[in-house]
Amino acid sequence: MMGGPGAGKGTQASRLARELGLPHVSTGDLFRANLSQGTELGEKARGYMNGGKLVPDDLVIDMLFDRVSSDDCAAGYLLDGFPRTEAQAESLAARLGDTAVTVINLEVPDEVIVERASGRMLCRGCNAIYHTTFNPPANSGVCDTCGGGLYQRDDDQAEVVRERLVAYHTQTAPVVAWYQARGVVCSVDGNQVPDDVFAACAACLQEAV
Ligand code: ADP
Ligand code: AMP
Repeated sequence: MMGGPGAGKGTQASRLARELGLPHVSTGDLFRANLSQGTELGEKARGYMNGGKLVPDDLVIDMLFDRVSSDDCAAGYLLDGFPRTEAQAESLAARLGDTAVTVINLEVPDEVIVERASGRMLCRGCNAIYHTTFNPPANSGVCDTCGGGLYQRDDDQAEVVRERLVAYHTQTAPVVAWYQARGVVCSVDGNQVPDDVFAACAACLQEAV
């Protein structure tokens, strides 16, 4: 699942993963778990994340490959937020083969991305994703699913979102082109209501299997 920061990757990936019975593997969630557990990896990643920069490839690739080596990923998995650089895409291709992936590319204009990120709230308990305007919880500050507390990500402040957009356009957009050259990209208009985005993503996967 590819797209800019706040394009709706996590929202769609968690629903698709549920429907497909596959694990949802989000490198952003893995880093945030490391941060909240105070691990060495979390400490190494913190400065990059809070500055809106990408974490260095070697750290991301080791963390991701460790996660997808688990038994629950044996039949496939849904990647959200990886790969974000050509080096990451090359490492995935070396592991899986060049065309073993289907890329869903969520297309959303930058100004919509800024609006989405600025209102995003996440659940501390289950990582469920909310938005103060577009997808509010029934009770303010409380997760509908698990009752956990909601928080705003440090990197969703406007100036950090701008940095993340720069990283997206300079480092990650070329990866979409890299996959387009391999014929595995299905582009989806992400600037629609979530149910319509979901239907388009599901259609991409149906075509792929
Ligand atoms: P990403 O994983 O790409 O960073 P998220 O799935 O976390 O993006 O979504 C970013 C924010 O936008 C969240 O607050 C989410 O509730 C909201 N959002 C996601 N998809 C839509 C949509 N189709 N329309 C309106 N808001 C959306
Ligand atoms: P996300 O939750 O996907 O928006 O990711 C949050 C932050 O984690 C990013 O801004 C990066 O600092 C870091 N990150 C997540 N995935 C990657 C990746 N594949 N490569 C480099 N940095 C990443």
